[in-house]
Amino acid sequence: MSRSFNKSIEKARLAGTLMPGGVNSPVRAFKSVGLPPLLINRAQGSKIYDIDGNEYIDYVMSYGPMLLGHADERVAKAISDVSSSGFSFGATTEREIELAELINKNFPSIEMVRLVNSGTEAVMSAVRLARGFTGRSKIIKFEGCYHGHSDSMLVKAGSGALTTSVPSSAGIPEGLSKDTLVAVYNDLSSVKNIFSANKNLIAAVIIEPVAANMGVVLPAEGFLENLTVLARENGALVIFDEVITGFRLSLGGAQGLFKIKPDITCLGKIIGGGLPIGAFGGRKDIMEYLSPLGPVYQAGTLSGNPVCVAAGIATIKAIEEDGAVSKANEASDYLVKSLKGELKNFDDKITINSISSILTIFFKGGSVNNFNDVMKSDANLFKEFFASALNGGIFMAPSQYEAMFLSSKHTKSDIDKTVSVLAGAIKIYSRH
Ligand SMILES: *Cc1c(COP(=O)(O)O)cnc(C)c1O
Repeated sequence: MSRSFNKSIEKARLAGTLMPGGVNSPVRAFKSVGLPPLLINRAQGSKIYDIDGNEYIDYVMSYGPMLLGHADERVAKAISDVSSSGFSFGATTEREIELAELINKNFPSIEMVRLVNSGTEAVMSAVRLARGFTGRSKIIKFEGCYHGHSDSMLVKAGSGALTTSVPSSAGIPEGLSKDTLVAVYNDLSSVKNIFSANKNLIAAVIIEPVAANMGVVLPAEGFLENLTVLARENGALVIFDEVITGFRLSLGGAQGLFKIKPDITCLGKIIGGGLPIGAFGGRKDIMEYLSPLGPVYQAGTLSGNPVCVAAGIATIKAIEEDGAVSKANEASDYLVKSLKGELKNFDDKITINSISSILTIFFKGGSVNNFNDVMKSDANLFKEFFASALNGGIFMAPSQYEAMFLSSKHTKSDIDKTVSVLAGAIKIYSRH
């Protein structure tokens, strides 16, 4: 049952001589689980294969884009069809209009949209737009929410002091980080305090309407509604970062599911079906502040790239056609129910947070409602659990602080196998 990872180990060593950490995005290095990283060479449906030929049931799903599973043939065909007529033009195409229509149809709050190349870029531009529109500088974000790696967003609160903002990366000037104020997820009073201490200074509140980058943490009943009201009372815009939740929690994202209208929405991941893309959009009067109509500058040589846009259109259409959101939800519900059934007596050891087709198994009993709770989970147990899952053919993100992603291609038999491996590992490792 033990697998060989020799080729991965050898190539990871070579990669480490040429790329920092051997990777182009840090979590891929498997550092937090203390294992050599896998090198992947292909994937199909719910399965992914490493260069040693090992097969895994995939719950990374490229960290979210692959709601349809890997290598969907309709998306593959769209990419190959479009690429024979040119890769990039530096001019508008009809496809961009079609993608904008699909986004607008599913997200009525997005009256106008701009396409960019990543989720990071979408958020960075949305924040600039909010600052330009309101003429204010400060932004409120929530501890544990990830909004890409732009300077203003790589900030979390320093040891509980909500007024001093400490960057979570070197290289971020204090002058920038001081304008990002950090509140506690699911704690409206923490937001109220920041607003009272910064009258008429807050441009926007940005939030993942379901947090999925500290593991999955759900908004408490009424939290998002009350947050929206509070922000508007204070003249601040509400930005929903739906880079993960867009087209996943429902076709219209978390805002469709919860029936809340933000002022600006950020999208990414699923809207490119695995190719690089991002988008931000919202109220027309706000979006008209963008260049060339307005004073807020934003641009991109490859923005609206025809190949990425074609992949996005094909993905969204296939999701609609297949009922892929419901299929992935059903797979996820079955996984969560089965795990909970197997682990009835482990309530004091683990907490499973889930919604729609994302979930996290936290190695902490009780409940997990904010970043502080997340930090109490047992990272060492996760490490052992992860190694055991990998050996059993289950590929999850190598970190306690990520979501597991389901797709419409995960079958009942995939899930039965997953439950047997994961519940087995939890039973062994949670005993000591
Ligand atoms: C992934 C992610 C981003 C960043 O998107 P990239 O395409 O990686 O730049 C931003 N916000 C959220 C909520 C994300 O999950």
